Amino acid sequence: MAGAKKVISLRSSCKEEAIDITDLVNQVIKGSGIKEGICFLFVPHTTAALFVNEGYDPSVVKDILSSLSKLVPAEGNYAHLEGNSPAHIKSSLMGVSLLLPIEGGKLSLGRWQSVFFVEFDGPRQREVWAWLL
Ligand code: ZN
Repeated sequence: MAGAKKVISLRSSCKEEAIDITDLVNQVIKGSGIKEGICFLFVPHTTAALFVNEGYDPSVVKDILSSLSKLVPAEGNYAHLEGNSPAHIKSSLMGVSLLLPIEGGKLSLGRWQSVFFVEFDGPRQREVWAWLL
């Protein structure tokens, strides 16, 4: 039986930004009392995403975001009239959900791994939904 949805609220502070949410997720797991299991994270937004990568050297995330911007240029012959097509496309490339292991009452991540929420059309108030299974 899955636990109730937990909501992590975030406020992005600029147009494009990756926010390390590892500690916030671990707080949710700690509050639940779950020691071993699975954490399902989901972003209910069309211009944001989630990913896991190196949290130690911030240059890694910087390179990920700059490379995404080369793949999906800010200016293009986009059909979507709202003007934020690059943000929608980047969200779809990165994905809106993660399934992560829980061990010892916290996320079981590799030594250099962190969990990131990534904003592509900020600044905005955002949410990450979590289910602990
Ligand atoms: Zn749009």
